[in-house]
Amino acid sequence: MSKSTVVVETMKRTLNKYGAGAGGTRNIAGNGSLHLALEDELAVLHRKPAALVFSSCYVANDATLSTLGSKLPGCVYFSDSSNHASMIQGIRHSGAKKEIWRHNDLADLERKLALYPKETPKIIAFESVYSMCGSVAPIAEICDLAEKYGALTFLDEVHAVGMYGPRGAGVAEHLDFDAHVAAGNSPDAIPGSVMDRVDIITGTLAKAYGIVGGYIAGSAAMVDLIRSYSAGFIFTTSLPPAIAAGAQASIAYQVEHIGDRQLQQLNTRSVKSELARKGIPVVPGPSHIIPVLVGDAGLAKLASDTLLNEHGIYVQSINYPTVPVGEERLRITPTPGHSTEQLEHLISSLDQVFTKLELKRTSEWAAVGGRAGVGAPGAKAVEPIWNDSQLGLLDGSAPRMLKGSRKMAIDLRAAEVALSRVSRLLGKPSIKADSVHVAFESADVLDVESQLASIEQASRKTIEARA
Ligand code: PLP
Repeated sequence: MSKSTVVVETMKRTLNKYGAGAGGTRNIAGNGSLHLALEDELAVLHRKPAALVFSSCYVANDATLSTLGSKLPGCVYFSDSSNHASMIQGIRHSGAKKEIWRHNDLADLERKLALYPKETPKIIAFESVYSMCGSVAPIAEICDLAEKYGALTFLDEVHAVGMYGPRGAGVAEHLDFDAHVAAGNSPDAIPGSVMDRVDIITGTLAKAYGIVGGYIAGSAAMVDLIRSYSAGFIFTTSLPPAIAAGAQASIAYQVEHIGDRQLQQLNTRSVKSELARKGIPVVPGPSHIIPVLVGDAGLAKLASDTLLNEHGIYVQSINYPTVPVGEERLRITPTPGHSTEQLEHLISSLDQVFTKLELKRTSEWAAVGGRAGVGAPGAKAVEPIWNDSQLGLLDGSAPRMLKGSRKMAIDLRAAEVALSRVSRLLGKPSIKADSVHVAFESADVLDVESQLASIEQASRKTIEARA
């Protein structure tokens, strides 16, 4: 999606005008209008007063948490046990006290919050979509507890920005879908909305937005504090201008165009229901992440190798310590660019690999009392985050899944908006959105070819390494 020509064209124009590098740190020669424009874009995306861009979200999380924890006297962190390494590192670097609460367990969080007087400064740090298990945090309920016990909330939306919400601002936005649709692209907070109640939101420019960089968004005072004290922001060269401009175009396109998000979820639904039909065990979850339970480290690696070597499909195996021993899995992430043929190939390949390696199917996990939520007795079906109406299934506006020669659609209106976002600095775009459409189609073909070539190369290397 963000590899689209709109983004590449914006990056090329910026590169031609401003050159390759940023020229310095943000405080010394490396601060340009493009950085400020990107931060404005991000602040509006999250309807927060301010945003600050970093080299990556790893750096954003580490820098922000280490600064907040060290500047708020007596601060205590309440960290979800499945939090990403960047948050764990930031909390550790702050030197502040921490309490780790069981993943997504509100009762455990409340028990731990209640250990401290209300006047103790507290920060609850958590993610929206957890990428290894596909679970989603109960954000509104965590905000309720934060209010009750006097805590700030720090939410990492790395696996959600660009993919959830009517404008792609993440799960916090998605939870008040209709209100955000009605508010359009207003910079003002919607009072009482979940996104408004979260104090600090962090995100990456490297996943759905397809480039590189990370950011925080929140109050002007908090952003100023981080800008003024955070070593990870101050002592490093800023993002190159072409990266900043490309990221802004990518965000702007996704704000204006919901179709890629809907298509990703339609593909996810289709894969989940086909896997269920074949009895292939999927750890239940409401997001686009599809964890296929294998339950053994050696077999998970072998299943991943077999998929690559015999079926040309790259899917990572996830082992301990990322997941508990006995819950090893394959992690599948459908994208909006996958065609129905590719999805069918994935399903039939997984089916063959499960048979060949004699991996347990859902009924076999149920027979031993369940594992990782698969086949658990009396388990309720998990409702997906995106409902039928949000996917456009009720009014016929849902995008069509890619099939045969059908290519990913480009939204010409969104492309115009994205191309013109930086025209104040770069002048009028040299191409028009409808020519982007043509260029995009050929770029798409090239992409598939280069992906196949890299899969072939990877298979060859694995075979050679084994020989
Ligand atoms: N937060 C989470 C939850 C992540 O999964 C990742 C990276 O994968 C990061 C932060 C770091 O993001 P970035 O790749 O922009 O450094």
